[in-house]
Amino acid sequence: MKKVYLDNASTTAIRTEVIQEMTKVMTEDFGNPSSTHSFGRNAKSILELSRKSIAKHFKITAQEIIFTSCGTEANNWILRSVVKDLKVKRIITSKIEHHAVLYTLLSLQSEYGIQIDYVAVKPNGEIDITDLVQLLSQETKTLVSLMHVNNETGTILDLERVGRICKQYNVLFHSDTVQSIGKTEIDLQAIPIDFIVASAHKFHGPKGVGFAFVRKNSGLQPIFYGGEQEKGLRAGTEAVHQIAGMAKALEHSYINLETERTYIFELKNYLITQLEIEFPAVVINGTVDGFYNILNVLLPFSEDKTAMILFHLDMKGIAVSRGSACQSGTIKPSHVLAEMLSNEDLKKPSLRISFSHYNTKEDIDLLIEALKSI
Ligand code: PLP
Repeated sequence: MKKVYLDNASTTAIRTEVIQEMTKVMTEDFGNPSSTHSFGRNAKSILELSRKSIAKHFKITAQEIIFTSCGTEANNWILRSVVKDLKVKRIITSKIEHHAVLYTLLSLQSEYGIQIDYVAVKPNGEIDITDLVQLLSQETKTLVSLMHVNNETGTILDLERVGRICKQYNVLFHSDTVQSIGKTEIDLQAIPIDFIVASAHKFHGPKGVGFAFVRKNSGLQPIFYGGEQEKGLRAGTEAVHQIAGMAKALEHSYINLETERTYIFELKNYLITQLEIEFPAVVINGTVDGFYNILNVLLPFSEDKTAMILFHLDMKGIAVSRGSACQSGTIKPSHVLAEMLSNEDLKKPSLRISFSHYNTKEDIDLLIEALKSI
């Protein structure tokens, strides 16, 4: 049985070049970057070259990149420090953020009593910018935290537009860019934004490594204490092989961006066409022109199919998702779709299908055949 992986918003396969790079670093460059001898200096040089290489893609300085263990850690750190150290009293966010943001904010609310305001979400999953502007007309020290590309529906936030609005109202702006880094151009010279975050395993790099972009002179303080790594902002011996792998993955993502984006975009359109032929009542959850590698669809199946659909597809070797990864396999409705769909539609089966350049039309044909047999 051919296995089909269409769950690339959860995680991605590691590129061969990345595995080669990491193997080389693990084999030959095992020094601790904090050591002053040649082994340490060698590891330090790999670290700093990786930082420089990553920074270049976003037109920022290498010092503005802080390595972390994942996207979740980067989000936690930024949000916690803006409240604890920058004395932000109010955070404007949305109910469709990833739990790495939503749960962090709830914990900050109970610890520091910050005010959280949720900006309205339109039925197509887009953020209501008019509502955001209305919310911004308060005097309190505020941070806006809105994700770039939604991991469940692929709806896109116009970072530049929101950045300009935040600047106009003199508030800080953080965006969870985990789903867009490596998959679209992000020019941080042009976008007025204070903080973004990344996770290597979403762009064909290794798991367990990510980074935060923190604009110069941000005033953020660490949440971990220990060594002086990462300019004292993130203690702990750096995972040199992971970081080198992440830099290599990002390099290849941007080298191949044009061709891979066009290829994936065509695959997604092919899937939409096939779904519309086989299941004419299918509905796209989110905007029709959502991000090119994510498609979330409401299938015209009866409610009783909802619980077993993933299992059924899995039996046929097909991996897709019902919501974000941490919810896959549970029948709890997605908190993102809950903001967009009627209670009636929420009970019906929705699927998130997410692509990479490793997918083929054959994968899609197999998915369609499997869905027809349900
Ligand atoms: N933010 C978004 C939008 C995500 O999709 C994910 C991963 O599912 C995360 C954050 C968490 O990233 P990590 O797995 O690196 O902790």
